[in-house]
Amino acid sequence: MYRVYNFSAGPSMLPESVLMKAQADMLSYNGAGMSVMEMSHRSKNYDDIIKGAEQTLRDIMDIPDNYKVLFLQGGASSQFAMVPLNLFRNSRRADFINTGTWSKKAIAEASRYGQANVVASSEDTTFNRIPDFDPKSFDAEADYFHITTNNTIAGTRFTSLPETGSVPLVADMSSNILSEVYDVNKFGLIYAGAQKNMGPAGVTVVIIREDLIGSSLDFTPTMFKYSTHADKGSMFNTPPTYGIYICKMVFEWIKENGGIPAIQKNNEEKAKILYDYLDGSSMFKGTVAKKDRSLMNVPFVSGDQDLDAKFLKEAAAVGLIQLKGHRSVGGMRASIYNAMPVEGVTALVKFMKQFEVDNK
Ligand code: PMP
Repeated sequence: MYRVYNFSAGPSMLPESVLMKAQADMLSYNGAGMSVMEMSHRSKNYDDIIKGAEQTLRDIMDIPDNYKVLFLQGGASSQFAMVPLNLFRNSRRADFINTGTWSKKAIAEASRYGQANVVASSEDTTFNRIPDFDPKSFDAEADYFHITTNNTIAGTRFTSLPETGSVPLVADMSSNILSEVYDVNKFGLIYAGAQKNMGPAGVTVVIIREDLIGSSLDFTPTMFKYSTHADKGSMFNTPPTYGIYICKMVFEWIKENGGIPAIQKNNEEKAKILYDYLDGSSMFKGTVAKKDRSLMNVPFVSGDQDLDAKFLKEAAAVGLIQLKGHRSVGGMRASIYNAMPVEGVTALVKFMKQFEVDNK
């Protein structure tokens, strides 16, 4: 069967074994005589699925008991609003590190409900690095402190977390959740859309410390309150049932493959193959400060738009697809999430080397 190496920034590749299990379950899940899509979210079969998804995520991320795991909808983009609506409860101020497009969206939404202060930004260098930050400039009274741990478009990631003291650290982990080990205790809240490292689009995972639940701004819509979903085990309304079922199998796949430490090692190996090649290439070069390079999204350019277009066309013809860079950066971007096998990265590098020879 024709399968490509899909370097899309998301939705992106899923483990083949998960897709095959979904295929085997399609017409009748666990003897139910129906697919998971057709099943009541209140049924016993489904209850086992959602509880299993939560428990497996807790196991692989080592999520402490005083955190709730929520399966929501609306994408990470809804969290840009939901976070301030729920966490603005005292000063109504929050600090942000601005590392690109997604941070800016989080800042813009927070500004609708309170004061969003940017304590560090890399906008002056088109977000090609993580800016330096100094805890002395942080607001000790802020209701939360927001970062984007991995910047999908710019291709940067935080390699150390800001020390925010008693101010809850909130992280948009959409594009690197489950790709490297994080200590959940360091965060007040983590959110991520599923469509890169967890499953299909349509599921948004929120991991929230319990003391941050329950004091949303009084005009917050019911569906936008964390308490609504926390009180009902993500079953206040119909959850994205099929998506959660796929996520559960992806979490199990991670567990079976040695957990996040092993996945991280694999990701580091994949990224190294690509970055090492880029560093030695005379045609292509990476766009990001070396110390801040993402393990997930690797932008690179040739400096010649015609050559970029030729590259993209020829790569697609051999099954290396979705390599076009985001319009704000240009050039190319290879997204190499957890499910991208090392063979996909070596195939890309092999192709790039040959392209370089052929287009001297
Ligand atoms: N944050 C980050 C870091 C992202 O990469 C994306 C999507 N690419 C979003 C937020 C927005 O996610 P969604 O489309 O799920 O709303």
